[in-house]
Amino acid sequence: MTKSDAPASSLTAIDCHVHLNDSIVAAGNVRSAQMARYFGRERPVVEGNEMAEMYRSRGMRAVLVNTTDTILSGRSSVPNDHLAQVVAKEPDVFRGFGVVDPWQGKGALLEARRCKEELGLVGIGELNPARQHFFPNDPRFYPLWQVVSDLGLIVMFHSGYAASGSGTPGGGGVKLRYGNPMYVDDLAADFPDLKIICAHPGWPWESEALAVTLHKANIYLDLSGWAPKYFSAELLKYVNSRISDKVLFGSDWPALDVDRWLAEFQQLDLKPEVRHKVLLDNAQKLLRWDSTEGDAGDGLA
Ligand SMILES: [Zn+2]
Repeated sequence: MTKSDAPASSLTAIDCHVHLNDSIVAAGNVRSAQMARYFGRERPVVEGNEMAEMYRSRGMRAVLVNTTDTILSGRSSVPNDHLAQVVAKEPDVFRGFGVVDPWQGKGALLEARRCKEELGLVGIGELNPARQHFFPNDPRFYPLWQVVSDLGLIVMFHSGYAASGSGTPGGGGVKLRYGNPMYVDDLAADFPDLKIICAHPGWPWESEALAVTLHKANIYLDLSGWAPKYFSAELLKYVNSRISDKVLFGSDWPALDVDRWLAEFQQLDLKPEVRHKVLLDNAQKLLRWDSTEGDAGDGLA
C-alpha cells in the first residue's frame, strides 16, 4: 500500500487508545449493539489499512489495543496474532497491545511473553477488571505482573465506569467495583518499574484516578472514552498543572469519533504546551516512539 510522504515533523498526535474493529473483530463482538446504544453511534467497521490511512492522513499515529470478553461471553478473544499482523503491516502509524486473561494462570504468563517476543507488541491491554472479574492487586496475579514488568511491556487497565453492559439487566455481568483505580495504585507501588496506563478519566472514581496518577511516577492516565466537552473542572485543573506530563490522548475509537474528540479537546481551556504534551509528547516518551521511527528514513532527528 502507498505510504504518505509527509515528513516526520508533521506528526501531531498519538491516539493511545484505539480498538481495532475490522471485519474479523466485528464478527466476533457480541456487545456491538449494546455499546452502540450507550455511545449513541454505530460502531464503524474499518479494515486495518483504511484505519492506518485515516491516522496517517491526519499526521497521527495510534496504539491498537485488544480486549477479551471470555469470562462474560464464553467466547474466545480476537487472537493477539491478528492484531499484531495489522500492526506489522503499518509500522509507521501503529503500535499494538495484546490482551491476556489473568485467570489463565501460566497461560497468561506465556501469552504475555509471546506478545513481546514473537508478536512485537509493546503492551498488554486493555485489561478490563470489571469485565474480567479480577482485582489488579490480587497477589495471585503478581507472577503475571512480574513477567510483564520484566519484559518492559506497558500494561493498560480500564478504570471507572463500564460502558459495557450499561443499562442491561445485571449490567451484563460486569462488576464495576473492580474498576476502581485505587487497586492499580497497589500494583504500581509493588512494581515500580511497571509502566501502567489507567484508561479513561475514571468516573465515579475520578479523584482517585487523579491521585494515583499524581502519586505514582509509573502511572499514566489516558483521556479516552469520554467526550472532552464533559471533562470536569477538577480533571482539567490537574491535566493543566500537576499531572501534565502523565496524561495521554486517547479516543477509544470506535466508541468515540476521533475528529470529534480532537475538536472538543481544542476548545478546552488548556495551556498550549500542555495540549502538545497530551496529544503527542507524553506518548512519545512513554512508548519510546520518536518522530522518525517507522518512517521512510528521511534522516530527521
Ligand atoms: Zn476501557
